[in-house]
Amino acid sequence: MDSMKPDGKLIRLSKSCIGDDEKKMVLSVLDSEYLGMGSTVGFFEGLLSEYFGRQVLCVNNGTAALQLALEAVGVGRGDEVLVQSLTYVATYQAISATGAIPVSCEIDSNTMTISIEDAKKKLTKKTKAVVPVHYAGGVGNLNDIYKFSRENNLRIIEDAAHAFGTVYQNSKIGSQGDVVCFSFDGIKNFTSGEGGCIVTDDRKVLSVVSDARLLGVKRDSEQRYQNQRSWEFDVDRQGWRYHMSNVMAAIGIAQFRRFSQLSKKRQTLAIHYDRLLENNSSISLHPSNYSEVVPHIYPIKIRNKKNRDELREDLLKNGIQTGVHYYPNHLLSYYRPHDNFCLPVTESIYGKLMSLPLHPDLSLLDVELVCENLLRLLKIKS
Ligand SMILES: *Cc1c(COP(=O)(O)O)cnc(C)c1O
Repeated sequence: MDSMKPDGKLIRLSKSCIGDDEKKMVLSVLDSEYLGMGSTVGFFEGLLSEYFGRQVLCVNNGTAALQLALEAVGVGRGDEVLVQSLTYVATYQAISATGAIPVSCEIDSNTMTISIEDAKKKLTKKTKAVVPVHYAGGVGNLNDIYKFSRENNLRIIEDAAHAFGTVYQNSKIGSQGDVVCFSFDGIKNFTSGEGGCIVTDDRKVLSVVSDARLLGVKRDSEQRYQNQRSWEFDVDRQGWRYHMSNVMAAIGIAQFRRFSQLSKKRQTLAIHYDRLLENNSSISLHPSNYSEVVPHIYPIKIRNKKNRDELREDLLKNGIQTGVHYYPNHLLSYYRPHDNFCLPVTESIYGKLMSLPLHPDLSLLDVELVCENLLRLLKIKS
């Protein structure tokens, strides 16, 4: 690791939090000597389906979930998809993997989710879908995005990679809406090592995704759930090797069973940060209601860019790792429409953004230590 506190402990920005249950579950799959997609994946999907109250299909990561969901609703070559620039590059890669063009939109500076005003301006005849990103676990004005989509005949694929466990208007994210995609990568709200899932009521989407994740082999999923495979089959579409393995599902099952603890801990830590950092004029907090939102990250905004980068270095020297979520995608050479393309709100916010450590193995004392260091360093700088 880059740097350490005097006692040798680095406060990590994020990490996987693994207990004995995960180890036992993985060991039992290893002992079964059936590591690929089999009945353990079916069991995990069953738990998730019960949780959401509708059908769930697991895949090998959140990016694959987004790509397959987009393909399944018919997004493809030449289509346009509205998406906020301020997201992980995975959202963009999933869209471009289908042949479609991610159209970069501004964010609402308060919610950090897609600006509907800007999305309206970027609507064309080629627009097929919107991918709202549930930044830091919050969903912004999701109802308005659905309203906008209905009015313009667009599909919605929610990138809920940050938002497992979040409740919006008394419903869990994923339990409603068009198609909702989650990630279970190592540092998300809960993990299956790598992994992801698609949640929807749309029969056609479910049927396309369940074949497409297994190289397009028709109805192979049904065989796999019984630890079998298909020998004679048809393939009528491009497929991908995107299924989840029993090893991943084993980790996921154990993590899912203690999700209420994991999510509660994330909320408690974020509330503690809020309390220690509010009313400080040199930073602004990301407003969030942690009785509903399960935070994946804890972003704050620093006053100017120079301060932000220096501050991150100084924090690291004090054993505190921080992050920046995210470098705007419209600035990447692959996704930049033309040299003069600019998103002023996104670019200005990006320069101030910094994420503080947040994961369930942090203690309240760790949070206090982070805040003490942060506030001390901010005072020296100003
Ligand atoms: C993690 C993440 C993804 C992709 O998930 P993977 O499982 O890493 O492929 C997509 N979007 C956002 C916003 C993410 O943070």
